[in-house]
Amino acid sequence: MFEKKENNQNCLASCELVPGKVEKGYTDQRLYINLTENKIENKPIDLQVKEIFTGGRGYGMWYLFQAVTPDTKWNDPENEIIFSTGPICGVTQYSGTGKTHVISLSPETGSANDNNVGGYFAPYLKFSGWDLLEIQGKAEKDVVIFIDGNKGKVTISESPERNIDTYHFIDKLTEIYADDEKDRKNISIVSSGRGADNTNLGILNISWFDTHRKKLRIKQAGRGGTGTVFRDKKIAAIVIKYQGVNANSNYMANPELVSKAGHRLTKEILGLDHLQNGMRETGTVNLLDHMQSHDCLPVHNYKFGSHTDAIKVENKVWHERVTQNQSGDSCWLGCVLRCSHGVDDFELSTGPLKGEKVLVDGPEYETAAGFAGNCGCFDPDLVLEANFYCDNYGMDTIGVSTTIAFLMECYENNILNKEITGGLELNFGNSAALLELIHQMATKEGFGKIAGLGIRQAKRILIEKYGADGNFLQDIGMECKGMEFSEYVTKESLAQQGGYGMANKGPQHDENWLIFMDQVNNQIPTFEDKAAAIRYFSLFRTWFSLVGLCKLPWNDIEPADNKKTYQGMQAAKVPEHVENYCWLFEGVTGKPVTPEELILQSERVHNLQRIFNVKMGFGTRKHDAIPYRAMGPVTAEEYESREERFDKQLKESVGYNPEGKTTEEKLEILRTYREDQYQKLCDAVYNRRGWSSDGVPTLETIKKLKIDFPEVVELVKKASNQ
Ligand code: SF4
Repeated sequence: MFEKKENNQNCLASCELVPGKVEKGYTDQRLYINLTENKIENKPIDLQVKEIFTGGRGYGMWYLFQAVTPDTKWNDPENEIIFSTGPICGVTQYSGTGKTHVISLSPETGSANDNNVGGYFAPYLKFSGWDLLEIQGKAEKDVVIFIDGNKGKVTISESPERNIDTYHFIDKLTEIYADDEKDRKNISIVSSGRGADNTNLGILNISWFDTHRKKLRIKQAGRGGTGTVFRDKKIAAIVIKYQGVNANSNYMANPELVSKAGHRLTKEILGLDHLQNGMRETGTVNLLDHMQSHDCLPVHNYKFGSHTDAIKVENKVWHERVTQNQSGDSCWLGCVLRCSHGVDDFELSTGPLKGEKVLVDGPEYETAAGFAGNCGCFDPDLVLEANFYCDNYGMDTIGVSTTIAFLMECYENNILNKEITGGLELNFGNSAALLELIHQMATKEGFGKIAGLGIRQAKRILIEKYGADGNFLQDIGMECKGMEFSEYVTKESLAQQGGYGMANKGPQHDENWLIFMDQVNNQIPTFEDKAAAIRYFSLFRTWFSLVGLCKLPWNDIEPADNKKTYQGMQAAKVPEHVENYCWLFEGVTGKPVTPEELILQSERVHNLQRIFNVKMGFGTRKHDAIPYRAMGPVTAEEYESREERFDKQLKESVGYNPEGKTTEEKLEILRTYREDQYQKLCDAVYNRRGWSSDGVPTLETIKKLKIDFPEVVELVKKASNQ
């Protein structure tokens, strides 16, 4: 029940601005806030920046690149947290168009990090008059930034609450900032929680009001510690209010072309989703059954790819738990795929809200696979409780579950013991210990102080303080560039290993997801095929983040005849949907584009991001190294669990006869072979991308892409002399 609350907060700064007007998907304005100086101002977006970097992640990368120096650390005031929209963002005639892109230096990787998240924030920001919100500096006390989009008024006020955990905090903020019950749908809030204060794994929750349930819902900008940066700046929340969204709030150049694409996709979703992935029924968690049946579900810290208990968390179970047929499950208006499900009235059994019945948003595949499979807790109640608390505390379910899975393996190998963990028995499958550790991470208590640092820093402490074997930890600690892996076993997919290892921000599947094409369908057998797929799909997926789109309606639904009309990699591109995207871009901006030009738009941003990594001291071949567990079996137990498969490869691919050999001998030979394969793949991918043999874009490449700005050229030259 809505109860209007007074706004009694101390206002620190207030400003009335004349925001931009939306024209063909853009406002060409950015809103800049400096929290150290309490400064609020409008800034223009340079036309050349618009031309070269398109929008969304492209804008965010460019302005962050300008704001920081090679010495800037994630918790320095000059680091920015940028929220950006894209030209297609906010369209209501096509599914999946409401994404916000969040860009910042990451506490985990030390370099540029990007996230793509649902909720209503970005469309409201753009319709309020800004393509981008850029926040720099640090406040002295917890603050709430309020953007009244219809009035152009921006205020910075002290937070009305000390407890900023998302679940109750955003309800309270809505009651402060909405005028009445009906106004709740006009509010979107960015929030986090105490877990982001106390760990490197902080996330942002972005809300929308579910008019069906009459409750606030959230989606997460989850990877790389974005929420940790947010809280380091002492932002308790950002609230935006905008009223008046309509079918042409983007002032599109050709609305008919946009509608044509929208009608085609909507028809497919309504006619085919229940026959394909059932996104409208359970969402991404449907993947769990596929991963289990193809031996790709991470089990016990990625040791294995399946488990007999996976049946306890299979898709059917989630179909019963998730509340069905909810029209509010669209994280932006007009998304017919509406995959943002929730479990209503889940009673919490632990933690500060114990006994309360809550709405759990999700679970997504990654969350279920991480806690059930990787940590060995095959219990839907555990998954929901862990999911809820991670969201509420503002912590990344992928980072948390992958870190705990690593610590569980350390515990089972006596690297950790009860003395070090403060009594927690961190065996795989111990649900009570897992939940207790989540609470300790969020509050920085007990062993949570170490776990909350993430795998890279936990490894260092275990080596330095507890004498752990560094080589073993390097092999089993599933992180690359400092970020934890998302939830796929990649041992049998060289292309997916490369997709993870060569992703700019770290091992997250949103840049490349090739495991099915490579391992299951064997459609990209050679190094050249794999390199071509890694190049194309990383660029195509980047494009969604330039324009404000959700990736899921691209290939989680496809035309009925897609696989009959097209074969192999061509089918995986879903050409009819690529055509939809060309229509969408042209329909909104008025600029006709070809599929090749979409790739060119992405290639500019992708290369800038790689050079950004170089600027921050990373971005070369050695930073694309992945732990051996991502490539092959580390332990005898792992080898022997899939002995037939590994022996076959030794015989057929390596030319080594495994008969009569010990497991240790076979492990070593296989390792040499697989590590060499990975390096050869890096060679092929760098070559295909126009990068040097050390993985840095060449001068020729950046000139061709027209991103040869003086500071970019200087970085490339410096890297090539090293
Ligand atoms: S497909 Fe799902 S995640 Fe994507 S916009 Fe629609 S509801 Fe949101």
